[in-house]
Amino acid sequence: MRRTRNVKIVATLGPASDTYDMIKALFTAGADVFRLNMSHGSHDEIREKHRIIRQIEEESGGSICILADLQGPKLRVGVFASEDGEMLEEGARFRMDLDTAEGDATRVCLPHPEIFAALEPGSSLLVNDGKIRLKVDECGPDFANCTVIAGGVISNRKGVNVPDVVLPLAALSNKDRKDLEFVCELGVDWLALSFVQRAEDVLEASDLANGRAAILSKIEKPAAVKNFEEILKVSDGIMVARGDLGVELPVQNVPPIQKRLVRKCRSAAKPVIVATQMMESMIDSPVPTRAEVSDVATAIYEGADAVMLSAESAAGSYPIEAVTTMNNVATEVERDPTYTQIIEASRESKGATIADGIVSAAREIAETTNIKAICCFSQSGTTAALVARERPRVPIIAMTSVARTARQLTLYWGTNCVIVEPLDRFKMAVVQSARAATRQGYAEKDDMIVVTAGVPFNVPGSTNILRVAPCDERLIFNSDPE
Ligand code: ATP
Ligand code: MG
Ligand code: MG
Repeated sequence: MRRTRNVKIVATLGPASDTYDMIKALFTAGADVFRLNMSHGSHDEIREKHRIIRQIEEESGGSICILADLQGPKLRVGVFASEDGEMLEEGARFRMDLDTAEGDATRVCLPHPEIFAALEPGSSLLVNDGKIRLKVDECGPDFANCTVIAGGVISNRKGVNVPDVVLPLAALSNKDRKDLEFVCELGVDWLALSFVQRAEDVLEASDLANGRAAILSKIEKPAAVKNFEEILKVSDGIMVARGDLGVELPVQNVPPIQKRLVRKCRSAAKPVIVATQMMESMIDSPVPTRAEVSDVATAIYEGADAVMLSAESAAGSYPIEAVTTMNNVATEVERDPTYTQIIEASRESKGATIADGIVSAAREIAETTNIKAICCFSQSGTTAALVARERPRVPIIAMTSVARTARQLTLYWGTNCVIVEPLDRFKMAVVQSARAATRQGYAEKDDMIVVTAGVPFNVPGSTNILRVAPCDERLIFNSDPE
C-alpha cells in the first residue's frame, strides 16, 4: 500500500490488538511497524500475532516490519487476583514481598531478592513508568512495607524502578536468551534490547542473533546516555525509551537527550524511534491532549525516523484512533514548509565515500528538478539508509531482492520498499524502478526519476551509478546503455 508520509508509525500489539481484524485495521490506519513486547504474553501468543502480521503483509503486497522487544533486566511486580489490579490511594500502606501468591489491595509479589537486599528505609520504589511512588518504611531480605506517596492503579507485571539504588544487572536474563532464540527462529526483523548500559551488552545480543535480526538499543538508563556514542556504533538502530528514562533521570532531562540522540542517529544513518507516552491519554479517550499532539509533532520536526504507540495500541480502548491521530499529525507536520526547512538545515556534512556522494547528488537533483522519486538498489540496505539520511523531498523507493532488507528498511524515514528479482543488467534496474514508481503511484509515465545502483550487481557496497531516467519504458530501451 502506498504511503505518503515520511515518519514511520510503530504500534505495540497487546490484548487490545491481537486479532486479524484489529491488526489489519491498524495497518490500514497507518502502522508501518508492529512491536511485540516479550514482557507480556506467551510464546504462543507472540507466534499467533506474528502469523497474522505476515498474512496481512502478504495480502498487502508490501513489506511490514516486526520488532520484538526483549524485556531485559526489567524489574516487575507479580500478578494480582483481580485482572484489573488495585487502586493505591495516597497515604495508604502497601507491602511488596517474595511471596508468589496473587496480590491484593495490601500487597503484591516483587520477585527480585536483589531489590530487597539493596533497599533501606526511606528508599523510593516507582511503579508503572514512575506513575506510582512508594516510600519504604521498613524492609528485610524478603519484604518492604511502604507508604503510598503518589497513588494510582497497580496491575499485573507493572515495571518497578529503584532510582536511588544501584543494582547489579546482567544485560540478558535467561528469559531474554530464550525469547531471543524464539523470535529469531520465528523471523522478526528487529530486536530491541531493554536497559542496555554498555556497547558490550549490544555485542552479546548481536552475537546471539547472528544476523537473523537487526539490533535496536533502547536508551533508558543513565549509563546508556553516558555511553551513547559507543552503543550507537555497534547498534543498527536506537529507541529513545522515555518511560524508564524519565524515571531513571529527572524528567526534564529527557527532551534534550531526545533531541541529541535523534540528531546523532541521523548523522550515523541509523533509524531512531521516539517512544512512550506519546498519546498516553488515548488509552482511555478517543482524542489526545494538545500537549500529546505537540509531543508527536516535535519528534517529527526533530527528524525522528519513527514515533511509537505503547499501551495506546496494546491495551487501550482506542488503538485505531491513536494510529489515525498520529498519522494525521505526521501528515500535517510534513506539509509545513517550516518542517522542510528544519530538516534541511539540520543535515550534517556528508561522509567521504562514493555512495555518500551519489546519495547527496540524488537529493540535490530532487531539490532542483521535478523528479518524482529516488529509486535505490540496495541488497544490504546500506545505500537506502544513506538516502534516508539525506531526507530528500521526494519519496525513496528502496529496491531489493532480499525480503529481510525490505522489512528492516520499513523502519527508516521516508523509505518505501519494493522486492524485485535479482538483476544482472543496469538497464533492467532502470526499467524495474520506472515500473515500481508508476505502479505504486509515485510517478506518471511522462515523469522522471533518479535511479542509484552499484555495478556490477553482485558486489555489496559498490554504489557507483546515478541515472536520471524517464518512467516511459520505451524511452528507457531506446536511450539507456546496457
Ligand atoms: P517496556 O518497558 O518494554 O515498554 P511496558 O510494560 O511499558 O514495557 P508497553 O509495551 O510499553 O509495556 O505497554 C504498555 C502497557 O500495555 C503495559 O504496561 C501493559 O499493561 C500493557 N500491555 C502491553 N502489551 C501487553 C500484552 N501483550 N499483554 C498484556 N498487557 C500488555
Ligand atoms: Mg521500557
Ligand atoms: Mg513502555
